[in-house]
Amino acid sequence: MEGLRIASAEIRRPDLRWPLPPDLRQVMTGARVTALRRRSKYLLADLEDRGTVLWHLGMSGRMLIEGHAPGEFHRDPSIYARHDHVVLRMETGTTITFNDARRFGMVDLIREGGGHPLLDHLGPEPFDDAFTPAYLAAAFAGRRVPVKQALLDQRIVAGLGNIYVSESLFRAGIDPRRAAGRIGAARIAILAGHVRDVLADAIAAGGSSLRDHRQATGELGYFQHSFRVYDREGQPCLRDGCTGHVRRIVQSGRSSFWCASCQR
Ligand SMILES: [Zn+2]
Repeated sequence: MEGLRIASAEIRRPDLRWPLPPDLRQVMTGARVTALRRRSKYLLADLEDRGTVLWHLGMSGRMLIEGHAPGEFHRDPSIYARHDHVVLRMETGTTITFNDARRFGMVDLIREGGGHPLLDHLGPEPFDDAFTPAYLAAAFAGRRVPVKQALLDQRIVAGLGNIYVSESLFRAGIDPRRAAGRIGAARIAILAGHVRDVLADAIAAGGSSLRDHRQATGELGYFQHSFRVYDREGQPCLRDGCTGHVRRIVQSGRSSFWCASCQR
């Protein structure tokens, strides 16, 4: 898509999770895509002189790439065309389709020179240079919320989800219920390192396919086979030398998995 013009844009519903901008088709039709980016869990397509299209895949959303030459790209027959909600035809003939069966995804516009409420207060990306142990210690300082909740707070660090928070806390040996402000600087530094390591491992494995997640190529991710605590309630702890078992509690409406024997 980068550098190419969108020859036509077809919007097949007025809403997904939220209403789509009424002028979405008009803004995208004929626009040149200057860059594709990611911020937190959002995909961003910058349009020349027309702002940016903001996308979130939600639970089940995916972008399908279909070429104009027969057989160039293959559509998995389990992906139904009735869930194709936004269809972009690029000037080269390639079609980019946003398909979302559950419709928890979203598409919105960031106007030229403007911001967006979903992006304005996001913290640094875990792989940003700004995400340092000192930064995380300052962000946690004085906070009484459980560290699990603090790590899910997108204003502190962007893009971390429930699975990767549980796995990071396990690797760091930190109890998810512990108050964020009551973790020492040395342990916070270890935690920051594990946040990056867990994400790097998950990216290398193509992500975690619990339900709908596919890689951009359509293949499943495999990191779910490397979970050490997530979704392992009642099973033996996998840390060397630990005889504990994985427990589950609900924090802020989300399941936390941890070992009470070795996570303090
Ligand atoms: Zn353990």
